[in-house]
Amino acid sequence: MAKTVIPLKELRAPLAIPPAHASSDGVALADTRGRKLRDLRISVTDRCNFRCVYCMPKEVFDADYPYLEHDEVLTFEEIVRIARVFRAVGGIEKVRLTGGEPLLRRDIERLVALLREALPGVDLTLTTNGSALKAKARALKAAGLDRVTVSLDSLDDATFQAMNDVDFPVAKVLEAIDVAAAAGLAPLKINMVVKRGVNDHQVVDLARHFRGTGHVVRFIEYMDVGSTNGWRMDDVIPSAEVVRRIHEHFPLQPIGSLYPGEVAKRWRYADGAGEIGVISSVTRAFCSTCTRARLSTDGQVYTCLFAQRGFDLKTLLREGATDDALSSALRGIWQHRADRYSEIRTDETARERKVEMSFIGG
Ligand code: SAM
Repeated sequence: MAKTVIPLKELRAPLAIPPAHASSDGVALADTRGRKLRDLRISVTDRCNFRCVYCMPKEVFDADYPYLEHDEVLTFEEIVRIARVFRAVGGIEKVRLTGGEPLLRRDIERLVALLREALPGVDLTLTTNGSALKAKARALKAAGLDRVTVSLDSLDDATFQAMNDVDFPVAKVLEAIDVAAAAGLAPLKINMVVKRGVNDHQVVDLARHFRGTGHVVRFIEYMDVGSTNGWRMDDVIPSAEVVRRIHEHFPLQPIGSLYPGEVAKRWRYADGAGEIGVISSVTRAFCSTCTRARLSTDGQVYTCLFAQRGFDLKTLLREGATDDALSSALRGIWQHRADRYSEIRTDETARERKVEMSFIGG
């Protein structure tokens, strides 16, 4: 690991868990800005087999990188217990498994089955780089996964391989997308992170490729997550530009959100060939409607993707906390939540030591 980088283990001193408001029993849970808790993202591993230059650059995440030890990682049973308490306190409607690369976690389909059983009716999804999806799609569906999001930054092999930085061929991801759709994990979402001068020439190609398939491509503004990707505002292609470029080839019309707090702004093709989404967390912050909590691989709760520290639920849990004690901890954490990083982002905040996305989950 590059000497200039401080390992995450040294950045993880947890925050003190604030007490829940005494009179809040039975009152709908909301944070200091009135935001509800609706989505839970669970990072099931801090490891990935890709080295995407904007997420886990090779020079930092090398053979010496201090990944979590086995006993630091939450077990499936611990994840399910925390997810169940999350649902009880906040009425979670959506759970997304992520990482790192979630399909690298051994027997991930067993976790899906456990969550499906514990959280009936919840929208259960997973975000993957697609490398192991062909092999796993059927088992994931059988275990109860509803849908899958596949990250795909380019259709052009040279660009794709330069971005994943492990020479993984795009054809295998495209094949996995077809297999996942056939297995019933459709409609898929396809995430493309757009970085100026790197893959922005692929925006229209990606739109063209997936038009008419039922899958929804979501163009994501390159973000200053973590502290290792050397983010600069100049590298961001604003979503408005993405929409403009696609609209020149395939006319687009704006459409409304499917649910409150949906982060992607939706656009439909005027000719009826489906829709795209744009996620503009840099140029049009959506903090005011953010309903997401994140559970890191080692059992810390983060209330913002750009947080520097989390709340250590694992220690509480392993010290024998009851469900009531865990509920109270989660209520206290959420009631005190005031995060609005994207609204106050500056060049200076972009240089802060935020926790890596591969650790708390994208
Ligand atoms: N390994 C899985 C994958 O590749 O989808 C899940 C984890 S990954 C961190 C989740 C998502 O975060 C991916 O779609 C990835 O492209 C996105 N992501 C990572 N770093 C990003 C950045 N700096 N800006 C915007 N999106 C980013």
